[in-house]
Amino acid sequence: MAPGAKKRILLVEDEPHIALGLKDALEFEGFGVLVASRGHEGVRLAREERPDCIILDLMLPDLNGYKVCEEVRRFDRHVPIIMLTARSQEADKVRGLDAGADDYVTKPFSVNELVARIRAIFRRAQLAPGTPETFTIGDAEVNLSTQTVRRGKAIEPLSFYEVELLRLLHAKVGVPVSRDEILSRVWGIDGNPTNRTVDNFVVKLRKKIEPSPDKPTFILTVYGQGYKLAL
Ligand code: CA
Repeated sequence: MAPGAKKRILLVEDEPHIALGLKDALEFEGFGVLVASRGHEGVRLAREERPDCIILDLMLPDLNGYKVCEEVRRFDRHVPIIMLTARSQEADKVRGLDAGADDYVTKPFSVNELVARIRAIFRRAQLAPGTPETFTIGDAEVNLSTQTVRRGKAIEPLSFYEVELLRLLHAKVGVPVSRDEILSRVWGIDGNPTNRTVDNFVVKLRKKIEPSPDKPTFILTVYGQGYKLAL
């Protein structure tokens, strides 16, 4: 995409008043918005239009959000997907993350909060300009440009937020980064200390990077402070 080109967001939502309200708010922010009111239609638009971000309702009449997510991940591993869910149980959120979502927002949500998260997605280039695009963590070779991590012959894709989390930790190597700062800078969320998103992502990242994910030696938990990358 050319610099400065309008970012396009695909909104998959069957409730007309929510879809319309969000579409207006996002267009007001300067984004292009495509709307699908069914899951299959959402998958088709994601494939044909290749949006820069997808906002996906969990409860849809034909294909639920988990399935849409899985379908989209077959042809696009990297597009950021934010799931809208009326459920607040941790298990549902984890299932969404496992299906390939990057983030979730629980209904009823504030449009401003959602817009803030989307803005954070598109701030990525300004996040840490000095960070090299490739670096090694132990025997893992991280490439932020291709969004992959290689260990030996195994290459694993990194999701959008995994890339941004690694970028932030690497820019502050050796220094603990609080969950609040991570949420604010990577996810665009302010002051939500109960949010477990960061912890879920750290668990997933450790599996891709650490030789023994249960006994991490690189992505460390600093009690009471947050997370630190040790090289
Ligand atoms: Ca719905």
